[in-house]
Amino acid sequence: MTQRITLHTTPETPPHIEVTPLGKITHASLPAGYPIEPMHDSYGRRINYLRISLTDACNLRCVYCMPEHMTFRPRHELMTDEELLTLVRVGASLGVTKIRLTGGEPTIRPNVVELVRAIAETPGIKDLAMTTNGLLLDKLAGPLAQAGLRRVNISIDTLDAEKFRRITRWGDIGDVWRAIRAAEEAGLTPIKLNSVVVRHFNDDDMIDLARLTLENDWEVRFIEMMPFGGVTEFQQSNVVTYQEMRARVEAVFGPLEEVGYDYVDPSRPFRIHGALGTLGFISSVTEPFCQGCGRVRLTADGKLRLCLLREDEVDLLTPLRNGATFEELRTLMRDGAFHKPWGHSLSSGEFAENRVMNQIGG
Ligand code: SAM
Ligand code: SF4
Repeated sequence: MTQRITLHTTPETPPHIEVTPLGKITHASLPAGYPIEPMHDSYGRRINYLRISLTDACNLRCVYCMPEHMTFRPRHELMTDEELLTLVRVGASLGVTKIRLTGGEPTIRPNVVELVRAIAETPGIKDLAMTTNGLLLDKLAGPLAQAGLRRVNISIDTLDAEKFRRITRWGDIGDVWRAIRAAEEAGLTPIKLNSVVVRHFNDDDMIDLARLTLENDWEVRFIEMMPFGGVTEFQQSNVVTYQEMRARVEAVFGPLEEVGYDYVDPSRPFRIHGALGTLGFISSVTEPFCQGCGRVRLTADGKLRLCLLREDEVDLLTPLRNGATFEELRTLMRDGAFHKPWGHSLSSGEFAENRVMNQIGG
């Protein structure tokens, strides 16, 4: 029977999570060299971007992400460092060049600095970034940057301390400001700030967030809330569409100027006239950007998730634990990626119910 552990579900007692650097990670069991064979899906999209969830656990409980009384997977169900690095190498051997670490909250994974170092040193990996709530970044930004992390996206849904606490269920917004400063000092730039816009929670706060770009060279990204398992009804009934978000920002700042869009980044960039930074809109629900999607995800329990909003997954961890060879893992990943679905069917009312957002990694 699957065992579940519950972590800190009481808002009054924020979790204390130790960040302990463990020993140096080695890849002794992996082949030293391999031919890189780029992978494509059946629509011809080149798959070169892997988002890895380091853990499904988190030190916050954002209302749009997970239920308050969330349970997390026991450690033995999660990839070990060695397993994770093996799958990174498999990905790199299939043309993965970009990796984003996410979660759950990636910074609470023990040994995260060493893990970053080992991923950054993997031949073929050229770009390594992280999406984080920033709570532990004050201490970690420097070591992570030194270990090879290039950039961070930091989540901040409001500038109002009380609303921040309400959305995250116990977070202190001061931690996020300290995180932004630490990330800048460590050179983890350009800084991108993620804001999920939730009706009745922070939809009025878009203006203050957008205003940050006037004098800061940051990208503030407004994200349409997506439905997953766990808090689906809340997510569906409080979504604010890209069209509405943009209209609300333009009502205050005037028409937004287009900034070159590469059709690869999910965020469409714009600029308020004269601003230093940019605004981005991620319209996954109402205007998906599937044509340029070269992303697949690796969940913390070792499943290759082919589309964020579809249930399709390929189990890589079980074969790895059962002794699959590097070549066999390559075949599993390559064949899985080939079957990446074109996109989601949210418009026809279908959504992926098999996981809560934190169990996939955004
Ligand atoms: N804990 C980290 C954080 O919050 O940045 C990383 C994991 S979180 C799941 C990754 C991103 O997904 C965050 O920017 C978060 O705001 C976003 N997110 C979470 N739930 C979402 C939802 N239902 N719809 C859209 N974005 C969501
Ligand atoms: Fe944690 Fe990030 Fe989900 Fe918030 S969005 S609960 S910080 S994983």
